[in-house]
Amino acid sequence: MDKYKTINGESKIYGIIGNPVCHSKSPQIHNTLSYRLGNNAVYVPFPVKEGELEAAVKGAYCCGIQGMNVTIPYKSEVMQYLDGIDDIAAKIGAVNTLHRTDKGYRGYNTDMKGLCLALEAEGITLEQEEVILLGAGGAARSAAFLCGEKGVNRVYLLNRTKEKGELLAGQVNKIYQRDFIIPMLLTDYKEIPDKKFLAIQATDVGLHPNAEHAVIEDVLFYNKIHTGYDLIYTPWETKFMSYIRSGGGKAYNGMKMLLYQAVLSYEIWNGVRVPKEEVDRIYVQLKTISDIEVRNC
Ligand code: NAP
Repeated sequence: MDKYKTINGESKIYGIIGNPVCHSKSPQIHNTLSYRLGNNAVYVPFPVKEGELEAAVKGAYCCGIQGMNVTIPYKSEVMQYLDGIDDIAAKIGAVNTLHRTDKGYRGYNTDMKGLCLALEAEGITLEQEEVILLGAGGAARSAAFLCGEKGVNRVYLLNRTKEKGELLAGQVNKIYQRDFIIPMLLTDYKEIPDKKFLAIQATDVGLHPNAEHAVIEDVLFYNKIHTGYDLIYTPWETKFMSYIRSGGGKAYNGMKMLLYQAVLSYEIWNGVRVPKEEVDRIYVQLKTISDIEVRNC
């Protein structure tokens, strides 16, 4: 990544709060954007310990920090410490972007739109689709709401802990006033009808350094998938993706989602539109870095 050349008394400070944050690629993306777009700003990771979120948000505001991203495990908890919440973020119940206002921070959710743009960029349409959604955590939440927004016909939501899947399905079905999400236990995947689906992988399984695993280790399951989108992007090619390709389907990793949610945060903070060629340029750099990181492990 390009190095930003100057940090001075007028530099605006941005960052990411969460626990852990040391592996985040957001600093690379945001600092490159600021450098390329001539913005005197710097973006840094802020690890926040359990029980210290309120102090972190207040302290950041007092220190003049202009905006922050929020990651695991604080995307919902942070909402109580904000001065206002954007409609989409309130609906989803998760905030990943804080934007400084006169009285505090206003919360936004760019994960859902980031996923939407990433799917569009890969040529994947959700309208009238039948979807298998794997996972019921924070990332799956954005995917489930996106399915609601886009009028997906049916979602089979598979999760290891059935209650969490039922809770998420119940919330989304209630908001969209139709029972289109069917929660199921992960191990009951054989009960899904014999059709072709779009699958969205939103569990932690397969994430580096446990890259040799996929959330379902049964090749027959993958014959049901025409297209798979894995939210994991490290490694670049996940086991989930390789199973799908072996079954004849198309598969993509989650790097574009990460990149687009970051660009959307950047646009909220700076009131600008990031040119597509800059987004594409950073994507190529992130792929190169990812390849080098995996080779060095
Ligand atoms: P999370 O809230 O902690 O949820 C984790 C999910 O994974 C839960 O559904 C959990 O099931 C499931 N899970 C964990 N270990 C499992 C196992 N051994 N077997 C089966 N299921 C298991 O995490 P998250 O924020 O949703 O993140 C999930 C993944 O998405 C992570 O890999 C993260 O890197 C990725 N992500 C990518 C982006 C992007 O921009 N591309 C954005 C956000 C997240 P239980 O409910 O049973 O615990």
